[in-house]
Amino acid sequence: MSVLDLRRLTGVARQQALRLILIGPPGAGKGTQAAVLKDRYALAHISTGDMLREEVRRQSPLGLQAKTLMAAGRLVPDALILDMMAQRLQQPDVSRGFLLDGFPRSRAQAEALVSRLAAHNQPLHSVVQLDLQDEEIVRRLCLRRSCPACGRVYHLQSNAPIAAGYCDADGSALVHREDDNEATIRTRLAVFHEQTEPVIEFFRSVGLLQRVDASLPIEHVEHLIERLVQGALTKTSPLRTSRRLTAGKTRSLGRAVPR
Ligand code: ADP
Ligand code: AMP
Repeated sequence: MSVLDLRRLTGVARQQALRLILIGPPGAGKGTQAAVLKDRYALAHISTGDMLREEVRRQSPLGLQAKTLMAAGRLVPDALILDMMAQRLQQPDVSRGFLLDGFPRSRAQAEALVSRLAAHNQPLHSVVQLDLQDEEIVRRLCLRRSCPACGRVYHLQSNAPIAAGYCDADGSALVHREDDNEATIRTRLAVFHEQTEPVIEFFRSVGLLQRVDASLPIEHVEHLIERLVQGALTKTSPLRTSRRLTAGKTRSLGRAVPR
């Protein structure tokens, strides 16, 4: 990644579609907050976890490769994720603005994303970090229930559906995700600390990271994010450092468009 790439990544993004990343450990509330943000700002909500679960459901070649890793709480290989994201980021809805949820999760993914956004002149407005302690995450995920149809998430104690077992939005029967058991949650947390925390540090180093205390009630977190987004929309995001994320080769996430 060059200094020019970083300058483009963090450059002024006024009067353009909103481009955000929600980053944090599993269970921090990314999906919960994304559901609000995508409606409020008419964003494409791009959740790599949701996309992969759909591939598994369809038993596609990607789904078959991802299934066991997901059930074990391990990351799906970067090359597969980057191929999937290269296709997703070409869809027309992305030009209205996007919200990335669960991506990037590794250094290679972050590098590929940064290069792509720079090449397409699409600076990020903000990377919002939802910060939460491991023990609270275990409590949240063990009692999470998800709607397989619309992706909406619930918690059996703090955010229960109106009719037990059924989605408020579309009435589908809620599911307990296979990877939402304590052993797998702890593996996912270890993977997060090892592979995704360096990505958070990178975004901090370039001045894009904005931390939110994700232990607060849902509406409070929502309010804090809204303030950050409004602030990011009105201020410039100066390049604060030219530190390279890694010295290694950058994987590809689609080709640059001529400008
Ligand atoms: P992620 O997308 O980061 O994995 P989710 O949005 O699915 O996390 O939230 C994980 C669980 O925590 C869900 O059961 C959700 O209802 C619950 N939850 C989300 N945000 C909060 C919050 N601020 N306080 C309490 N529970 C929350
Ligand atoms: P999530 O729904 O974000 O909790 O993701 C569920 C699972 O999908 C993860 O535990 C990984 O196995 C896989 N996954 C989701 N996003 C990624 C990603 N960006 N890179 C690698 N694996 C991912």
